[in-house]
Amino acid sequence: MTSRLLTMACLLWALAATGSAHAQASTLNRSVRVLDTLEPAIPRPEQDQAVAAKLAALKAKSGKKPNIVWLLVDDMGYGDPGSYGGGKAVGAETPQMDKLAAAGLRLTSAYAQNTCTPTRSAMLTGRLPVRTGLTRPILAGDKLTVNPWEGETSLPKILGEAGYNTLLVGKWHIGSANGMRPYEVGFDEYYGYYGAQKETSQAVDPARYPDLVLDKDKFARYLELGEDHALVHGFKDGRLAEISVIKSTEDMARADMVLTNFSVNKIKELAKSNKPFFLEHAFMKVHTDNYAHPDFKGRSASKYPYKDAVLEVDTEIGLIVKALEEAGVLENTLVFVTSDNGPQMDGWPDSGYTPFRGGKGTTWEGGVRVPGIAYWKGMIKPGRVSDDVFDLMDLFNTAVHLAGADARLPTDRYIDGVNQTSFLLHDEGEGKRECVFFWFKSDLMAVRMREYKEHVKVILPHSTFMHIDMATVQDTGTAPWLFNLYIDPKEELPVGHRMNAWLASLGAEMGAHAATFKKYPPKKIGL
Ligand code: CA
Repeated sequence: MTSRLLTMACLLWALAATGSAHAQASTLNRSVRVLDTLEPAIPRPEQDQAVAAKLAALKAKSGKKPNIVWLLVDDMGYGDPGSYGGGKAVGAETPQMDKLAAAGLRLTSAYAQNTCTPTRSAMLTGRLPVRTGLTRPILAGDKLTVNPWEGETSLPKILGEAGYNTLLVGKWHIGSANGMRPYEVGFDEYYGYYGAQKETSQAVDPARYPDLVLDKDKFARYLELGEDHALVHGFKDGRLAEISVIKSTEDMARADMVLTNFSVNKIKELAKSNKPFFLEHAFMKVHTDNYAHPDFKGRSASKYPYKDAVLEVDTEIGLIVKALEEAGVLENTLVFVTSDNGPQMDGWPDSGYTPFRGGKGTTWEGGVRVPGIAYWKGMIKPGRVSDDVFDLMDLFNTAVHLAGADARLPTDRYIDGVNQTSFLLHDEGEGKRECVFFWFKSDLMAVRMREYKEHVKVILPHSTFMHIDMATVQDTGTAPWLFNLYIDPKEELPVGHRMNAWLASLGAEMGAHAATFKKYPPKKIGL
């Protein structure tokens, strides 16, 4: 065991020792644990019953289980959509996202993990990255020692068994080696790119990366890493085709529209099937490096490629929702729009905006708090806004519940997601999650409960925006740093000395959380 692993194990055992005696000891905690392997949830029986009746009435009308559509933007900032304070104010209007937010539920405290792979895998497994081993993005040259999907049950696998067609369009980023690709871990069909935009732009942009692209020797070595820049169309039954390969920044500029056109056409086909469908449409944009599609170049007020990309993605969200409407399935489809982490400030000005501290790669609010818009025509009351906490992992449990597949939830491992169906669908729905836990790789960093957030470790950049390329993980020192996010959303003024901080007792929550690792230890996969 490496010394780092040992340190982590010691920390977890120390926390567990505290936590086991004081599990859920804080006076503010309302959640109840019903299974050792399931994250505790706040009981809301009346809300659950009302929503169950609402869903049953819809099923009687539609004759089908509901469709589920996730629209996942890459690296979009909390402050980018107009409905979150951005839009016109930051030089790129987002009328489509704003329309969905106004016609649905706008979550103001939705949380992702701090980078791509961790969030995407957590959404598809309902499990924290530290449990699956997918603790950071898989990058060119990484060789995993264990297939992270071994021993995991993906959402598309569960939904497929519950009678769904399952489809991923766009970015994957949870392994491109044998046995790790979308069509090998549960999806019926996949149409997209395995990696992130920046992995590809390094190979095709001599203006940004001349030292690599224009140097034959270095470029040959780069190619040996085997990074895949192909648009792949794969099926669970083994059919696999390479549609095209990105060879230029022009190809990159057009990539998202190709994906959107595919989803739009596919929705028409899926809507005609007797089966319901699960579609995860994962945009390549607005992850750096952004190259404006010709139809959007200079169309944002800002004119910057990032802002043109926000405008494009917003337009494409509109096209996908329009396709659902034209196919006649809008009233039987939950649409959820979000981002997989905060803006990547290291890439500025090719990066988004957050009003919070930090950015992608940190467990400050700027790294993890993301837009979260739930839209379901006729099922979610228009104009709802809630600050109750929501973890994107909750989409896993919520989708399983909507599919009527609760009995298929694995019980041989810990599931961190919470079924938030009744929160999303009840006209006055209240959240069922009490705490959100923040991890950075193998370190438990912080917890949020209600408006309080306590850090035991923080990520501090050593150059203003360099949260990823020049930052360190540090202990908070003599005491945890506790913030009240309502009076200090930027996490700058700790309130640890106040009485209400003692009432919140977030240390006990971290202890109880750490105790869950005693029986179900973290997985290491060589990342
Ligand atoms: Ca991302």
